[in-house]
Amino acid sequence: MATYRLNNGFHFEDGNLFCEDIKVSSESIFIDLHVKSPFFVFSEAQILHNVKQYKDVLDQLNLKYILNYSMKANANPHIMRIFKESGLSLTLVSGMELRFALECGFNPKTLVFNGNGKLDEEIALALKHDVLLNIDSLFNMKQTLRICRKTGHKARLLLRINPGINPDVHRYVSTGQEGSKFGLFSEELQEVIEAASDSKEVEVVGLHCHLGSTIKKTEIIRNSVRVLKHIWKEMKEKGFCSLQYLNIGGGLGIDYHKLVHFECRLQQNQEEELAEIKDGLSHGKVQVPSARDLVESVVDLLEEDMTLVLEPGRSLIA
Ligand SMILES: *Cc1c(COP(=O)(O)O)cnc(C)c1O
Repeated sequence: MATYRLNNGFHFEDGNLFCEDIKVSSESIFIDLHVKSPFFVFSEAQILHNVKQYKDVLDQLNLKYILNYSMKANANPHIMRIFKESGLSLTLVSGMELRFALECGFNPKTLVFNGNGKLDEEIALALKHDVLLNIDSLFNMKQTLRICRKTGHKARLLLRINPGINPDVHRYVSTGQEGSKFGLFSEELQEVIEAASDSKEVEVVGLHCHLGSTIKKTEIIRNSVRVLKHIWKEMKEKGFCSLQYLNIGGGLGIDYHKLVHFECRLQQNQEEELAEIKDGLSHGKVQVPSARDLVESVVDLLEEDMTLVLEPGRSLIA
């Protein structure tokens, strides 16, 4: 019997694709799962493995951290349950995601509500539940202050910084470079800091930066942490003593070549095809940094007073 393991969730056995111990490449799965149309199959074992990659290194290095799954990568309710049971929190990019996260029973205090187009009512909902708010612009800051005054709620804020770093990825998934619509940059940042220091309604509890997706060099994220740290120090000196969260975003790339080979060969069941898949996998391997590479690349920059927040999306779900 020829078995070839693709990862922790999927393997081929005699040319048949299995997800854990369920044969996927059989007609009977349509009957067993009561589905009549094409569908996605996810492996819980693989998702748990992905989570473990992050947790292992964070625990081993004895870091204070929060691991937030970036929900926009896949908001399937069954998958949300897996992340919740694994003790993860969430990063949200829309009001609907916020509502859904609350419905799923996640602890609101570590949810991060991000976005540059938040509606008043969505901010009000976040404030009511004491969700962490990412401030993305001066407009967003004024909007938040206004809603705090109106509702009488206080806000815990993270300032989303645009560090002016080109993450070297496709422009559609690039967010941290100069001119991007995301995050606070130089003057606007100073204005937001001033507005925050003048206000009793808000407390700045952290800094945030998400450079983009499919990042292949940890060096880039390390550079953004340097920028955040600089701003952190300046703000502490100005009296922002509640700074606690250093949120470095998500964005770690995944090995798409492996997935492509995997997909191309799904239909083919012969032994020699399997050998070819193996060959393809070893040749097509792209060097994508692991969760460990990512954390180890920034650990020496972290200070005692920082709780590291990570927001991986695709690297947890792919
Ligand atoms: C999309 C997003 C992430 C996750 O990005 P991935 O590439 O899926 O890891 C993290 N933080 C924010 C603010 C995002 O918008």
